Amino acid sequence: MQHSDFIQALPKAELHLHLEGAVPWEMVQSRAQSWRSPPPWWADGYRFDSFSHFAQVIRSCYESTLTSVENYYQAAQGLFKSLVAQNVRYVELSFSLGHALSQKLPLSEIVEAIRDAAPAHLTVQVFCGVSRSRPQLLQENLLEAILNLHRPGLAGLDLHGDERAQGPAPFAHLFAQARQRGLATKAHAGELAGPPSMQATLDTLQVTRIEHGIRAIEDDGLMSRLAAQAITLDLCPTSNIKLRVVEDEVAYPIKQFHQRGIRITVSTDNPTILGCSLTGELNLLAEHFGFSLHDLAQLQANAFQAALIPAARRAELLAELDSITSN
Ligand SMILES: [Zn+2]
Repeated sequence: MQHSDFIQALPKAELHLHLEGAVPWEMVQSRAQSWRSPPPWWADGYRFDSFSHFAQVIRSCYESTLTSVENYYQAAQGLFKSLVAQNVRYVELSFSLGHALSQKLPLSEIVEAIRDAAPAHLTVQVFCGVSRSRPQLLQENLLEAILNLHRPGLAGLDLHGDERAQGPAPFAHLFAQARQRGLATKAHAGELAGPPSMQATLDTLQVTRIEHGIRAIEDDGLMSRLAAQAITLDLCPTSNIKLRVVEDEVAYPIKQFHQRGIRITVSTDNPTILGCSLTGELNLLAEHFGFSLHDLAQLQANAFQAALIPAARRAELLAELDSITSN
């Protein structure tokens, strides 16, 4: 089987995806018609000047599109269609709490709209993205409102934003409360800051899922900890390369994590801004970073192990992966 056919046939999961950076391009263009297609940031070799440059671009995409609950539904529907076409079976999708509040939209209706947009054969788990840059949002009444989103179907909380701006401490109470109520928790770290930020995030928030985490490569002790504690890292190669998290794209160290036995998965982060897809990321790993087809299947197995799905469904997906790799 050709690499690309094998990758397409794999049942897949995306664990690290933000709706704000995944609004379908047609929807963005219909509201910002002055933007030329394709935008410059899709080009191979394109690199953002800085994280704030990236933040400015992504803001201009979602500020003109995610302005009503109906728009959230439409954006999620278009995104899910593209995931199904790539044979993605499971997705964890975050929406930004800060943006939803700025639009004065009811959080529970956003959660319901995203869930309602899920097609058959795609399991969708919705996460509320809390920004490190805005701990002041977490007033007691809002905190309770976030935790109560479990009832309309929120799966969990995701800490995102610039980890250089704020450490994890202001969010420890929220994350502990969330877990007590049965919500899942995960956090971005090891992207814009190095190993100490990752260590602090693991210790303070007690998460077992880290989004990014590629900069753990700078600390051998941390690499050992990640393997020993079975921490899952949801890595996004194109995102890290285009945002200059690693300076040398040829030496992007993802294979070293896999070889150390660290449970890694691969995702697209913000595909509309970065011009990437999940199948594209898997092809990149095969073509440039030395991943065998068996390795790529293992990454999907890692993702299904971390997925919030019933044990019977997990067993089904893992059996499907086995049947593809043994053919
Ligand atoms: Zn992210």
